[in-house]
Amino acid sequence: MPVWICATCANHYPEAPSPPEVCVICADERQWVPASGQRWTTAAELAAAGHRGDVREVEPGLLGIGVDPPVAIGQRALLVQTAEGNLLWDPPGYLDEAAVAAVADAGGLRAVTASHPHFYGSMADWSRAFDAEVLLCAADAAWMTHPPERPPRTWSGSLEVMAGVTLVQCGGHFPGSAVVHWAEGAGGAGALLSGDTIFVTPGEDRVTFVRSAPNRLPLPERAVRGVVEAVRPYRFDRIYGGWWKPVLHRDARAVVERSAERYIQWLRGDVPEDT
Ligand SMILES: [Zn+2]
Ligand SMILES: [Zn+2]
Repeated sequence: MPVWICATCANHYPEAPSPPEVCVICADERQWVPASGQRWTTAAELAAAGHRGDVREVEPGLLGIGVDPPVAIGQRALLVQTAEGNLLWDPPGYLDEAAVAAVADAGGLRAVTASHPHFYGSMADWSRAFDAEVLLCAADAAWMTHPPERPPRTWSGSLEVMAGVTLVQCGGHFPGSAVVHWAEGAGGAGALLSGDTIFVTPGEDRVTFVRSAPNRLPLPERAVRGVVEAVRPYRFDRIYGGWWKPVLHRDARAVVERSAERYIQWLRGDVPEDT
């Protein structure tokens, strides 16, 4: 019996003779179901279609693990490497032996987590491969569609997973939407790994905040302010979003503050040059 993988979001569902009726993640207003109806796939089918692990060093101490060609939403994972062990963030819904071998070569896996339920994907498989702990923000834990064999640990607010590697609950896109603050990132200036909790835009010079990217739903002012306030105590100069590109390379703290103020001006209709 296969693990069923939603073809649209790549979240996993437990082994069963046939897939569930709906993907609860895609039936939610933040995602979407194809007009032709719910589609399911399996790891064997994705392998046969030519999908392969795509491993690249992003910066020293940070390994990117994507899939080529990308699967579903197309996020690439980030492996934060520390002397105390490694944390895998936002894994794609497909992992192959090459991806597992790359993580083993980099020192294995102590914990796996994701910014929000759209990227919970293959966490149970990664947990099993390395006996790694699955960390779930308590506010979103009920969205886990493929519970790992090893019981997950839930957290709220913030959690320092290893020295200098801290999960920060920001809310917004989901109540438990989180970022990783990596103190050693960006050459010691600090980096955020943000998934789409803080959404880096194509010009790599600003960020935005969304309830739903595919359905173009904005967030209310209080949620935008909540995200900004959650990351304000941390020192960071760079933001890695959920994909290989775009990356906000520098000056990220000021860019987050500036982008949020502009977003709120538009929410309020308080834009002098609006005609
Ligand atoms: Zn789905
Ligand atoms: Zn999302």
